Amino acid sequence: METHFKQTDVVVIGGGLAGLSTACYLARDGLSVTLFEKSTNLGGRAASQNHDGYIFNRGIHAIYTGGALSEVLQDLGITYRYGVPKDTFLLHRGQMYPFPASASSLLTNRLLTIGDKFELVRLFSTLPRINAKDLASMSVQEWLQRTIKRPLVRQLMATTACVFVYSSALDLVSAEVFVTKLQHTLKHPVVHYVDGGWQTLVDGLRRVVEQAGIHIEVGKRVTSVAYEHGRVQGVRLSNESMLAASSVVLATSPQEAVKLIDNGAYSPLRTIVDSLVPARVACLDVALSCLPDPRYPVVQDLDHPRFMSAQSVYTRVSPEDGALISTFKQLDPLHLTDQKQDERDLEDLLDTAQPGWRNVLVKRSFLPRIEAVGMLPTASGGGYAGRPGPEVPGIAHLYLAGDWIGTGFLADPCMESARQVARLIQHEHSLTTTSGLR
Ligand SMILES: Cc1cc2nc3c(=O)[nH]c(=O)nc-3n(C[C@H](O)[C@H](O)[C@H](O)COP(=O)(O)OP(=O)(O)OC[C@H]3O[C@@H](n4cnc5c(N)ncnc54)[C@H](O)[C@@H]3O)c2cc1C
Repeated sequence: METHFKQTDVVVIGGGLAGLSTACYLARDGLSVTLFEKSTNLGGRAASQNHDGYIFNRGIHAIYTGGALSEVLQDLGITYRYGVPKDTFLLHRGQMYPFPASASSLLTNRLLTIGDKFELVRLFSTLPRINAKDLASMSVQEWLQRTIKRPLVRQLMATTACVFVYSSALDLVSAEVFVTKLQHTLKHPVVHYVDGGWQTLVDGLRRVVEQAGIHIEVGKRVTSVAYEHGRVQGVRLSNESMLAASSVVLATSPQEAVKLIDNGAYSPLRTIVDSLVPARVACLDVALSCLPDPRYPVVQDLDHPRFMSAQSVYTRVSPEDGALISTFKQLDPLHLTDQKQDERDLEDLLDTAQPGWRNVLVKRSFLPRIEAVGMLPTASGGGYAGRPGPEVPGIAHLYLAGDWIGTGFLADPCMESARQVARLIQHEHSLTTTSGLR
């Protein structure tokens, strides 16, 4: 039996960054909003866990400044304290070399030859003039092969690409993504590690949501979106009850979004989701009673797709004398490796960069194949143009928000799509109010 609750203007499904931000914008515009989150806590992949003062994010997390994430947090009045990572080292054949991040460090770099340095300077001086969209159908690998002649420079840029695109499948990922990220980094080189982990951002969003009077239902799973004659009616919940709504926002993973709206009929969205490739990474985070070797706080492996950062050196994510180190291995989503081997590879990176870490281990967390990005823009899919937009074709007043919608990488498209969806709903709401259709 279906119970009909009172009508709400908008239902948001999903309490991650995308759902919370969409709800904040809508409530600010004066709409009534109900948000459903199936798990018992808000935050999704941006949530952190506190173990005796050690804050574990769901894998290594940084705010890339100058993007939609920074803009939306500022727009919604969410402030945070942070640290800026520096002192990155390149690990090559068992030796550490400072990362050539500036002109002076490039000049004094012992790893690169004069020829390598010239090629890097040439590459970075031409970058601002490249139209990244022109590279949408070319893979990162092909772009690197065409653009860079010297093997060591190519290797450096290839491992940097793996770190930037959270994937080692450089033959698959569109060069548009990497070149856009490089161009963005040239303009906005600063990265923020958040004090208290990304839970600080989630808590900030939750406070705005609560102050705006948004109705939050945690531990409640939406089972399907109800729609008739190509128009949304509301949502059904796991107890068979129904909540009527003028608009519904799906801020879930792509697979869950399709499950929620698909009634077996042909859906253009299903076609996209069935063929998508996510970015998967293996993350090993360790809480230590002290940092074994302060000389190497951030390490990018030049020989394998691995990265390590002692985040606690820069921001408050551990007790005073303790240390929290995050490592991640970028996987090839089409050729996943053995999980145990992935864990050993990350332990091996810690053994090299932070020998003795096992003797001061307090707690560890291993996430074997976590999805860092719901949909990688691929060369065969035409780069970002292959991703869906915020409107669901064929169903009016149904919207999508998340890291797999539109242009941008990681949390930026979550926030950008949240902003766009809120604008679309506000527009349609003002039209129906003006025409007296509500
Ligand atoms: C290892 C790792 C590293 C990352 N590093 C960075 C980084 O450095 N910088 C950066 O910007 N981003 C980073 N990201 C990406 C960032 O965490 C995500 O883009 C962002 O958190 C995704 O938010 P979301 O709201 O789109 O999705 P999610 O966080 O996945 O939220 C979706 C929510 O919907 C809920 N849900 C699903 N189905 C239902 C249903 N039927 N009913 C009710 N609720 C439902 C889920 O429980 C979940 O809480 C990283 C991610 C990972 C995994």
